[in-house]
Amino acid sequence: MSGAPLAPLERVRHEILSACPRLVPTELPLADALGCVTVDEVVAVHDVPPFANTAMDGYAVRAVDTACAPVELRVIGLVAAGAAAQCAVGAGEAARIMTGAPIPAGADAVVMVERTRPSADASTVTIETTALPGDHVRRAGDDLAAGQVVMEAGTTLRPAHLGLLASVGVSDVRVSPRARVGVLSTGDELVSGAAALGPGQIRDANRPVLLALLAESGCHGVDLGMAPDKEAIIARVVDQALGDCDALLVTGGVSVGDFDYVKSVIDKLEKSWWWQVAVRPAKPLAVGVRSGKPVFGLPGNPVSSMVSFELFARPALRRMMGHSDVLRPEVEAIADEAFARRPDGKLHLIRVVATWGDDGRLHVRSAGGQASHILSAMAAANALALVPDGPGIDVGGRVKVMLLNP
Ligand code: AMP
Ligand code: MG
Repeated sequence: MSGAPLAPLERVRHEILSACPRLVPTELPLADALGCVTVDEVVAVHDVPPFANTAMDGYAVRAVDTACAPVELRVIGLVAAGAAAQCAVGAGEAARIMTGAPIPAGADAVVMVERTRPSADASTVTIETTALPGDHVRRAGDDLAAGQVVMEAGTTLRPAHLGLLASVGVSDVRVSPRARVGVLSTGDELVSGAAALGPGQIRDANRPVLLALLAESGCHGVDLGMAPDKEAIIARVVDQALGDCDALLVTGGVSVGDFDYVKSVIDKLEKSWWWQVAVRPAKPLAVGVRSGKPVFGLPGNPVSSMVSFELFARPALRRMMGHSDVLRPEVEAIADEAFARRPDGKLHLIRVVATWGDDGRLHVRSAGGQASHILSAMAAANALALVPDGPGIDVGGRVKVMLLNP
């Protein structure tokens, strides 16, 4: 089994993505929709701004009256934001106006307050500058016109998008929901939290990591706890969790050890794969699907499970949540140290620290030990250098990097 041929990363990812259908759309209040992908086109039902208003505190005037500025105009009223203008501006007149207030009838320009001098009793104002029609006037529909497409279907909602939707009166939006993803750690050696360690025991590091990666990826993580290396128990937890979740992440037990029961549990789902992926770390990967819900059997070593999540689970979950760009950005960087390696048929993913150099280029250095149990190097890293099969990369050479937290 350990001699199984290595499967190229892209082929494995393609196969997984093809097996993960988009989640059934749901309607969410704007407050819960950040980062979600819209399902429908949204059309403005009214203009934004809904009425012509002033961009400045000052005086609403007829521009023609200011042609020979300075000129003294009679102040006929005050228009504040939040109500209709009660006055109309006639020849030789002006209205005091506050930012956001409707332009009163008759006026076609606003003179900012800094360019005016009111009389002592405020009954007149001297306009010190010539205004042109439209000065400091925000027209109705400037931002969005009624009937205009506010947002295409398939938009990933960022903060400004939520504001746009709010500004046309949309309070709930149809999106692909956040995937509910169960996280289960398996292994007889695992202990949770601060409990005393017995002989041969280690603490479960994978659950907190994966739950956090899920939150960062816009998913809803569900903590399924830990299970021992017992096939029946793992099978029962997986079976129950699939009733409630859209996908599962199970760590440990997918390699070729004697107690690797996660692989056997995944094997019995409707559809399943087990790969030795041509990558290091994160070589073994078991994936099964039941009713369109993927179960990822990730390797137990903390760095391997994180890299496997990045390479396979995160893109699949993003696809399920409707994203079209499912991969982390990849950019070219300069190797500030050599990344030596030997040909072994695998792509090596080196934990690196990427920083911008004075030359305007991205530079990378190793973030520490590269063994798959060295979580501290993963914690120090902000990128993975993708060192292709071959002799490695010399100092000063170019290397592609995947940015983990751009
Ligand atoms: P496995 O994939 O089950 O063969 O585990 C590979 C290595 O990862 C072993 O050294 C395990 O003890 C370790 N490991 C498995 N699960 C976890 C976990 N949740 N947290 C930390 N280390 C783990
Ligand atoms: Mg194990």
